[in-house]
Amino acid sequence: MKKVSIYRPTSVNEAMQILTEHGPSAAVYAGGTDLLIRLKNRLEQAPSYLVDIKKIDNLRYIKEDAQGGVEIGAATKLAEMADSALLQNRYPMLVEAINKISSPELRNASTLGGDLLQEVWCQYLRGGYSCWRNGGYMCYGAIGDNSYYHSAMGGRLCYAVYPGDAATALIPFDARAKLATPQGVKELSIEQLVPGDMMVDGRIQSHVLRFNEILTSVVIPAPKANLRASFEKLRPRGVWDFAMASLALAVQTKDGKSIDDSRVVFGGISGKPYRETAVEAFLKGKALSAELGEQAVAVALTGAAPLKYNATKVDMAKGLLMSGLARVSA
Ligand code: SF4
Repeated sequence: MKKVSIYRPTSVNEAMQILTEHGPSAAVYAGGTDLLIRLKNRLEQAPSYLVDIKKIDNLRYIKEDAQGGVEIGAATKLAEMADSALLQNRYPMLVEAINKISSPELRNASTLGGDLLQEVWCQYLRGGYSCWRNGGYMCYGAIGDNSYYHSAMGGRLCYAVYPGDAATALIPFDARAKLATPQGVKELSIEQLVPGDMMVDGRIQSHVLRFNEILTSVVIPAPKANLRASFEKLRPRGVWDFAMASLALAVQTKDGKSIDDSRVVFGGISGKPYRETAVEAFLKGKALSAELGEQAVAVALTGAAPLKYNATKVDMAKGLLMSGLARVSA
């Protein structure tokens, strides 16, 4: 394992100062379920300085806010989210998604912030290949085995899929992320937070956080009236594995029957949680019915650009759209 130095700041400001001092060679350390593996794999981009934020007060909580929504501290464990009566009551689809992340043991260690900002799990990166994300100048995923960890919706430099489930499930609720930055608090939608492979501070990452910014919380607005939602996930094994394809779906009805608004977000198929606005436009005004899924599939993912070995991800995602619409129509 790569040798590192650890800081244990007691405030967000102190943590930001340390991150600023060391630049991109430092990184925030919370649950460690992604970061420690990057260190173990001795990746080029793995940090030399860890800024352990577990001792900072006020980063680990789930509470109602004044507007009837819920705010979740970034260092809150996934298991704490899964056990929260408040979240189970207000956003059962989110809890369903959290319960499908990895295994119970890892949910006890992983944090919400870590799930949102995790590094991709492309086997070439994790195997230490010198690819774009690891300080090199090519993408092995685009030309090698791309059957599992790679995008079926195209890419720029890196073709790895965004691996997190929490972001996919938070987007249908219009959740927002709060960031502490040296310039003050910044708020972003979850889509803005994880837009896919981006060059930030000279390195490729899936999120837009700069080296000295810290994700502090996620705010979920009060649930909309007449909202029906479902989360579906296909993976090789029933636990542990990342999604081959997933779908977070939410439909809001006027009268319990016709769809007024919707969010259709696929995971596991693209470098970002993939919001399928063509299906959302198609669903507007339609009556919930058993046939709706088949009709919606005809307009779904028309922009797919599968690589040599992953066209099946597109079929899986379309199958999830049919089963998701069947669930919310029942
Ligand atoms: S998909 Fe991304 S992480 Fe994988 S080899 Fe290509 S550049 Fe590296």
